[in-house]
Amino acid sequence: MNILIFGPNGSGKGTQGAIVQKKFGVAHIETGVIFRENISKGTDLGKKAKGYIDKGELVPDDITVPMILNRLKENDCKGGWLLDGFPRNLAQAQALYEALQKEGIKLDYVIEIVLDRQTSKNRIMGRRLCAKDNNHPNNIYIDAIKPAEKNGGFVCRVCGGELSARADDQDEAAIGKRHDIYYDTKTGTTAGINYFKKRAVVIGVDGLPGVKEVSEELLKKLG
Ligand code: AMP
Repeated sequence: MNILIFGPNGSGKGTQGAIVQKKFGVAHIETGVIFRENISKGTDLGKKAKGYIDKGELVPDDITVPMILNRLKENDCKGGWLLDGFPRNLAQAQALYEALQKEGIKLDYVIEIVLDRQTSKNRIMGRRLCAKDNNHPNNIYIDAIKPAEKNGGFVCRVCGGELSARADDQDEAAIGKRHDIYYDTKTGTTAGINYFKKRAVVIGVDGLPGVKEVSEELLKKLG
């Protein structure tokens, strides 16, 4: 099963992605995670990407597109994949679709989590990352995934691990830029989604309800 998942930053895309990944047992490939790992390891790729990420800009396509196309060739992708954070614009969507066509790889589903810009922004600013596991969702503004309290502070609600806020999550200008890219219907992410609407099965889900309601609707639609 090969799946793309789209949703504005703050829509719960990572959380829903982890649920879908578990259900189908496919490789979960998150562009943002790959970049952050490379930054913390100090690799060449990380050094190239850091400046763009800190400003909330896209890492250029000539770095990102080959990185992802190569990642999809790794062994763990043979049983299927869920791609999260890529494509992020129309050019990446076209490059991916053409590469898949060329290799004869079927795109089974494209998931779109639909959420308005203001709600997405509030959710980003409340998001906290667990030091132990990226897939432990915590958000100080969403009751269903509110972190646990300990010694007057917050710890991961799943494992009690330390929490941190990503710098780019607290930067309103950077959030604005990321959303400008996402909601852009000409060349941005929404243009990419519209491109797939003519070429693949696109499943739209309302991202406004809680995590559980969204995942139920999503899993029902995935069949
Ligand atoms: P994310 O964790 O998905 O919010 O990604 C964090 C940052 O990584 C983004 O703000 C971009 O700077 C960069 N990034 C992630 N995915 C892509 C992509 N497909 N193309 C270019 N840059 C990306």
